[in-house]
Amino acid sequence: MTIVGPGVTGSEPARDGRTWPHTRDATVPMSLRDTAAFDDAEEAGPDNASLIHLHESIAALLASRGQYRQAYQHLRSALDLATAGQNDPPQIPEQFRREVDRLRKEHAEAHEQSIRDSLTASYNRRYLDQRLVTLLGDADTTRTDLAIALVDLDWFKQVNDTFGHLVGDRVLQRVVELLQDGLPEGAFCARYGGEEFVLVLPGIDGPTAVAVAESARARVERHPWSKIVLGLRVTVSIGLSHEPPGGPSGAAERQLKRADGLLYTAKQSGRNAVAYHADGQAKLAGAAAGRRAVAEPRVLTH
Ligand code: GH3
Ligand code: MG
Ligand code: MG
Repeated sequence: MTIVGPGVTGSEPARDGRTWPHTRDATVPMSLRDTAAFDDAEEAGPDNASLIHLHESIAALLASRGQYRQAYQHLRSALDLATAGQNDPPQIPEQFRREVDRLRKEHAEAHEQSIRDSLTASYNRRYLDQRLVTLLGDADTTRTDLAIALVDLDWFKQVNDTFGHLVGDRVLQRVVELLQDGLPEGAFCARYGGEEFVLVLPGIDGPTAVAVAESARARVERHPWSKIVLGLRVTVSIGLSHEPPGGPSGAAERQLKRADGLLYTAKQSGRNAVAYHADGQAKLAGAAAGRRAVAEPRVLTH
């Protein structure tokens, strides 16, 4: 493995006489495992070898965080140990183990933050896009069913206008909790933007997806919103698109567009409803199924 990165300048001779270029964009050998020096260090004792390994681990973690100068210093220490005479006393590895643990934890936390929405703690758009590429990847022709539900809060501007943005924010947080409550295994909720969320439901058939979306809608409707502020009422409209296994690949955008078209149907048909496509036409689920006028989706659903 190599690290290539900015932030390190100049060049210095290493103990073995080689010169490591460490200008900007320098390529530094990341693993010493393949070198004869590492074999010597292993012979020098397990402490030496594990110290080298620890320095390398720290260097890898620092490099992944963009801290190339510090990463380089740890690589230098690893190289020094690998090439040092056998009489050099090994340093105490405990301190480095703790540093590796701390950096690993920080790295995991930073990664988690980078894929979460800061207001609602649902996954963010970046995570959604990445997962959809995987789930609907061009190369994957064996994938299972995939349902995508686009959820939009009804008349949410009025909630803000009437009760203020802070109440609006609390509503968004609570809606996410309610949406996530009954999700089947493997499903997740992501904030699509503003007051719109996406439920990604892999591996379930069309009727089950409709039931999951309808029960999410009903949970939001039934929630005792007036406990937050008297007079508050919140509902959501949902457009649900379902793709059976072996459907066309590379279709994330197309499927989201279909869900968006069906969301339009749910809105135009009275809101507080789940719209989906079956038997060649747009339908409303559950309690809304009896409504007389079901609007045509905004875009083609097939
Ligand atoms: P519709 O039923 O047609 O969806 O009506 P709507 O009022 O929900 O739709 P509109 O697009 O007119 O308004 C969406 C509102 O969502 C406007 C915007 O201020 C609000 N909003 C978006 N993101 C946030 C947020 O993070 N916090 C709060 N409090 N409001 C937000
Ligand atoms: Mg909207
Ligand atoms: Mg809305």
